[in-house]
Amino acid sequence: MLPSCAADRRRRAAAVVVSCALLGLPEPAGARPHAPASLAVLVVIDQMRPDYFTRYGELPGGLGRLYRSGAVYPRGMQDHAITHTAPGHATFLSGRTPASTNVLTNDLGVGDTATTLLEVGGSGASPRRFRGTALYDWMRAADPGARLLSVSRKDRGAILPVGRARAPVYWFARGQFTTSTWYADSLPAWVRAWNGRGGVSSLAGRAWRPLLADSAYAEPDSMAYENGGRDFLFPHWLPGDSAGVAGSINYVPWMDSLTLDFALDGVRRLHLGARTRPDLLIVSLSTTDAIGHRYGPDSREQHDQIVRLDRWLGWFLDSLGATVPPERTILALSADHGVAPMAGRPGTTGGRVSLDSVVRPFRRAIAAAHGGPMGVDFESGLLSADVSALRERGVDTGRLADSLARVIAGRPHIAKVYTPRSLAAAPPGDPHARRWRRHLPRDHEWLVAVVPRDGWVWGSSGEAHHGTMQADNVTVPVVIAGPGVRPGIYPRPVRTTDIGPTLAAMLGVRPAEPTDGRPLREALGLGAR
Ligand SMILES: [Zn+2]
Repeated sequence: MLPSCAADRRRRAAAVVVSCALLGLPEPAGARPHAPASLAVLVVIDQMRPDYFTRYGELPGGLGRLYRSGAVYPRGMQDHAITHTAPGHATFLSGRTPASTNVLTNDLGVGDTATTLLEVGGSGASPRRFRGTALYDWMRAADPGARLLSVSRKDRGAILPVGRARAPVYWFARGQFTTSTWYADSLPAWVRAWNGRGGVSSLAGRAWRPLLADSAYAEPDSMAYENGGRDFLFPHWLPGDSAGVAGSINYVPWMDSLTLDFALDGVRRLHLGARTRPDLLIVSLSTTDAIGHRYGPDSREQHDQIVRLDRWLGWFLDSLGATVPPERTILALSADHGVAPMAGRPGTTGGRVSLDSVVRPFRRAIAAAHGGPMGVDFESGLLSADVSALRERGVDTGRLADSLARVIAGRPHIAKVYTPRSLAAAPPGDPHARRWRRHLPRDHEWLVAVVPRDGWVWGSSGEAHHGTMQADNVTVPVVIAGPGVRPGIYPRPVRTTDIGPTLAAMLGVRPAEPTDGRPLREALGLGAR
């Protein structure tokens, strides 16, 4: 039986508004509204796996605090086929899958040659591909004065949780925080001032050494499979000049502390959370991903990164709490994808799989026959092409896709190959087909979609990888915290598309369009449906 909103409201000591109507529950007669939240915060930790909350012992800082005080879903899923940063970030606050957001891969993400980067120059980035709306649009529909700040080291990390709104969205490029001409014509004084303080170049010549005593790390440091066999032992030195630091800082933990410091400065300068109605802060921290790629999820480096991130996040939450009262702040934390163990690690089966030997000759044959590439592009299992143009030239694209699928299915380490026809015909219980359907917009033209065997990841470089739909790539934590949230570990599988609808329900705003995700009822203290 459904709990009534009245009973739940009585049970909660909370001060968060959860609209019963939005959750499909009867509004209790005479219920008094709770004090509203004045700030919603989304923290994304790029490549964070759920086990990072527990595998290093009790974390004393921000990660540990959220884990202990929040509603924790360790079986969150980026429930689509290509587990890249861009499509993952687009799911959180849109509440929709890549098939709906149209953000399919990192390459089919935010790159936009029609924009330039402010101050540092060069081709910019924007949400031009992104379709539909997201939480910030829903908040502005209810309150045109709603404010936003979105910050990340990566352009896609800052841009895609926001949607298409032209708002304060900043990312890190060539040693400073900036934005593109999609958002603004010039950088505001506070961004210039932050960049001018030289926090990045002050790290020149610094060594990254483990924060804790050696005995605190169970992971051996001397693993030559890390970082392509180069510089895999602590300490890791940053170059001695500021240009060198700007090029290397992505791979040391300090990039996250700089991002958090910049975000906090922005919260104060933009007066986020200072009104009676809610504002939105998005912070996407990219270093766990960079270190994870280079050294792998089982490295001493990743352990140290999480230990440091935990402390910095604690500092950030404390500092934020001094600006916006914690009882008026709601928070969600998640990740854009997980990561597979690094190939070559002792005990790891599987490895890297490449279809270059099929795709390259195919691309050459198409170019020779049609005088151009015809949009042929292979990325993380998806072979896209300008199918309409090929048809206009008399190509039987159905037969072409079938023959490609046959060749690819015969290659090693391939579990499944779909064509548009076979994907449409796949039974509803086929989990791979379900994830490709969630990934591919109806108007995206493609020939084959490939699933490698578990343990096999795309690519050929000496890095740890994500990108496939195997469990350790798809599974991410989802944490909801703040007043009114019922703490606990909730083992049922949920999706990152549930985060936007959950925050919307907590803020009392209504999504402007149908979402794939649904509010997380346990987090809201409403019991499972
Ligand atoms: Zn990555």
